[in-house]
Amino acid sequence: FFFLMIRRPPRSTLFPYTTLFRSKKLFKFLKDMEETMFHANGVGIAAPQVGLNDRVALALVDNKKVIVLINPEIIEASEAMEIGEEGCLSLPGLWGRVKRHKKVTVKMQNFNGEKVVMKFTGFNARIMQHEIDHLNGGLYIDRAEAGSIEDKNE
Ligand code: ZN
Repeated sequence: FFFLMIRRPPRSTLFPYTTLFRSKKLFKFLKDMEETMFHANGVGIAAPQVGLNDRVALALVDNKKVIVLINPEIIEASEAMEIGEEGCLSLPGLWGRVKRHKKVTVKMQNFNGEKVVMKFTGFNARIMQHEIDHLNGGLYIDRAEAGSIEDKNE
């Protein structure tokens, strides 16, 4: 698996849209990302966290199903917000309270490059927002409530 890296480029830097569809390279990369995510007990992982600066991420939906997010984009977000605790594989041991949209609709592409639109609510919606933030060069700590970051490292 990959070593996780903290990558925090300037917010203006967007990782490029992926065009690696249906390739062996993409397949292998996704497998490695999945392994890294499970190894770290994560529920999501974005390619820039492991050194590939492409708009690719994985999300563990309903705590059981891995969804491949390629060039994901939030096309609709509920006005209703929800506060919840978040951590990140790039910031081991840290947790913070983050306000997120309760529901989001995400447009993305799958491994074959086909366009897919999916709706997510609650914790699944939180994962989507967190991962898409990574692809835009952001980390949850930028959005966390002031003073809410806790270090749970032993
Ligand atoms: Zn993260």
